[in-house]
Amino acid sequence: MPCQCPLCQQLIRTGQRHPRLETISHISNSELLKCTLCHAFYLHEHDRWEPLSDYRQSFTHPTATYENQLMQN
Ligand SMILES: [Zn+2]
Repeated sequence: MPCQCPLCQQLIRTGQRHPRLETISHISNSELLKCTLCHAFYLHEHDRWEPLSDYRQSFTHPTATYENQLMQN
């Protein structure tokens, strides 16, 4: 995973949520969170932390997909 802050690296290692995580939405047993330091998104489900790298990429680089399409043509 690129560009993770030290807090997120610790989260992945230990499974402990860190204080800079912000809850975006909470649906039954799943929780969508965002790190306010490195803007990474995580799905917290059944005590598992799943980094949502694709979502983060499209969030921080909205033109990336468009540029890829241009390069393929
Ligand atoms: Zn982070």
